[in-house]
Amino acid sequence: MSDFTLKMPAQGRAADEVLGQLQSLKAQDARWHDGRVFCLVYHAGDELTDFVKEAYTTFFSENALNPSAFPSLRKLEIETVAMVAGLLGGTGKEVVGNLTSGGTESILMAMKTAREWGRARNPKNTLPEVIVPSTAHPAFEKAAHYFGMKTVHVPVGADFRADVKAMQRAITKRTVMLVGSAPSYPQGVLDPIEEIAAVARQHKLLCHVDACVGGMMLPFVRAAGYPVAPFDFSVPGVTSMSADLHKYGYAAKGASVVLYCNPDLRRHQYFAYTDWSGGIYASPTMTGTRPGGAIAAAWAVIQRLGVDGYTRIASEVMQTVTKLRRGIASIDGLEVQGDPVGSVLAIGSKRLNIYEVGDQMSARGWHMDRQQNPAGLHLTVNHAHVASADQFLHDLTESAELCRKGRVQSLIDRSRFTILGGAVKLLPASLVSKLTQVASSVMGIGGGGGLPQKSAAMYGMMATLPNRGDLETLVIDALDRMTRPEETPTASPSTQPSAASANKKP
Ligand SMILES: *Cc1c(COP(=O)(O)O)cnc(C)c1O
Repeated sequence: MSDFTLKMPAQGRAADEVLGQLQSLKAQDARWHDGRVFCLVYHAGDELTDFVKEAYTTFFSENALNPSAFPSLRKLEIETVAMVAGLLGGTGKEVVGNLTSGGTESILMAMKTAREWGRARNPKNTLPEVIVPSTAHPAFEKAAHYFGMKTVHVPVGADFRADVKAMQRAITKRTVMLVGSAPSYPQGVLDPIEEIAAVARQHKLLCHVDACVGGMMLPFVRAAGYPVAPFDFSVPGVTSMSADLHKYGYAAKGASVVLYCNPDLRRHQYFAYTDWSGGIYASPTMTGTRPGGAIAAAWAVIQRLGVDGYTRIASEVMQTVTKLRRGIASIDGLEVQGDPVGSVLAIGSKRLNIYEVGDQMSARGWHMDRQQNPAGLHLTVNHAHVASADQFLHDLTESAELCRKGRVQSLIDRSRFTILGGAVKLLPASLVSKLTQVASSVMGIGGGGGLPQKSAAMYGMMATLPNRGDLETLVIDALDRMTRPEETPTASPSTQPSAASANKKP
């Protein structure tokens, strides 16, 4: 059954009716405001959010595509980039950068820059390679996929940090860049940036530090008195960085910074086309039209909080992190994976099925992302969790105890998937679509207010698939469903996520 309205209304509707409908749709979403969602939303209080909204709407209509029409936005963007560069070791150096729409765009730009830099150095290098720890964000993979590059994945050590010796061994004539994360998203650990950058320098390669999640947090974690090893432009050999403002910068969504150690390197990022009948076109980053609101909001939130405001928030968040880490470690069977440097961490278990613990937590209204290799539950702790941490630990203790005692009834019949094992390509479409529904539910699509309910079953099923290609087909099917209105596929061949389509491998 579907409540999608797919036709434009013939006559426009009343404003309060339309806005009322938006509010009621929103009421079905994940309850991030109660501190029950450990991803996606970064919240530092309603007062700050209201302030950021006002800054955003002040520049709601303006477009930063052509900054000469809006000198205001040019100034706000330059100042924002400079302030972040200063925060990340760029003071007194030639560090330059641009504002982008998010971490992914910042990383796409750093990868494109590395490709052009590599080509300039050696035109015969047609498939430039970038060496990334296995924990690096998929945006590097996405960039390689888009830009005709190759990522070389190097497994991380037992502490989940990049294995620098193994990265060094992976260097070839085609290598253009090494990557480290500050911190990595999956376990929140800080890669050994000084060592990675030293290897890059020794081999005359670029070194990108992905500080998307940590760039606006780790400097203030350090200021709050917690140890944080050097990870930014203060480290010799670091040539580019990405840092998101819409995460721990608490800016409006659509704001990140990409930085380069000098203007010469950044030139490789640019794009210009001079032959268009519409005029000469030049653009620094991926996007064309750029919302002025996101730029104004990013600038304004940094002005509003200042170093002391960010440090105060980081300090409160880190007290909560300390409480959570102690609490998790004291629960029989659970552990924090590795030694996270800040407010991002993962819960794992050597004895329990952590996905079942996660399903119990979902049933209690908590939203944590599921991880794999090793299995874990992901927590991005922010200010919204200061108030909910005690309840979280209470529920986690209860969930783990139920799993320990084997009292958990699997939320879905797993044997059904086990029998199917590997036969995905030969399955009738209806079964594929059932699997896809499970995949959808784990990805948080449809049902359960956006909360994954059946991850233990899904990951159990995944483990039975003989190769990752089958899994990729399933996930792409789920993605395809997500961007279509039907909740159940019809029998029409063109709209079916079918076994036939699973057969078509390029
Ligand atoms: C969030 C994140 C990204 C991607 O940022 P988006 O804003 O989601 O595009 C990249 N790297 C790390 C480490 C991140 O945490």
